[in-house]
Amino acid sequence: MTELLHINCGTLRVPSYPTVVCHCLALVENDHAVLIDSGIGLADVRDPIGRLGKELIHAAGFQFHEPDTAIRRLQARGIGPEQVGDIVLTHADPDHAGGLADFPAARVHLAAEELASLSAGRPRYLPRQFEHAPRWAPSAGQTMDWFGVPARLVDVPLSTRVLLVPLPGHTLGHCGVAIECGRRWLLHAGDAYYLRAELTQPEHPVGAMAAARADDDALRRTTLEHLRRIATEHADSVDILGYHDITELPTQCIDWDEPARRAE
Ligand SMILES: [Zn+2]
Repeated sequence: MTELLHINCGTLRVPSYPTVVCHCLALVENDHAVLIDSGIGLADVRDPIGRLGKELIHAAGFQFHEPDTAIRRLQARGIGPEQVGDIVLTHADPDHAGGLADFPAARVHLAAEELASLSAGRPRYLPRQFEHAPRWAPSAGQTMDWFGVPARLVDVPLSTRVLLVPLPGHTLGHCGVAIECGRRWLLHAGDAYYLRAELTQPEHPVGAMAAARADDDALRRTTLEHLRRIATEHADSVDILGYHDITELPTQCIDWDEPARRAE
């Protein structure tokens, strides 16, 4: 039986926008933990300017609190870093990849397209967050259809299926992570949207920020259309969770095992 935990691994505050958080998930089975995104890490908290730089900290509104790191959140639940054998990344932006270095033995699953962008040195990624040489496990191709979109089965030692679902646009290799929860699925949609309202309000003002941060805005908009379709046509089978919206937590799926704690 897989246990699903929600942990908040970061907070960002930008004036005139709502405060946002970093919704990470952990899947735990037989003393093995799989982390979904890694939030802000210990090294980021200890040397914010050295790791992220003043400009990015100011622009994205990063807040640094050691208890908010994935390693400390998991330790508070009795899960040691050595138990985290796998990490699944939606993409490699600084607020998602900062915690990787706290779990250096973990295999890091991500889209091959994302790893290619990172390896090409695109400036949105921070080389210092990857200096520890992560054990990359890139995923390519299509292994199944998932509610009308292609998906890739991720090789993790769990009885629950975990899929990388390409949701490109924010970055070229950006993916959602679909987790089978009994008869339902939970889709962690990463940064395919910043605020849940973008799914119901196509002209939501935060869309301007999302467009500015997108590697390919046309792809981002197409991805949003897929999510709107899945949210309406498959509401009986799929819960969707974004990475940043503080108001949002999935319902049925998180209750499936461990009661969710609202992001603090
Ligand atoms: Zn983000």
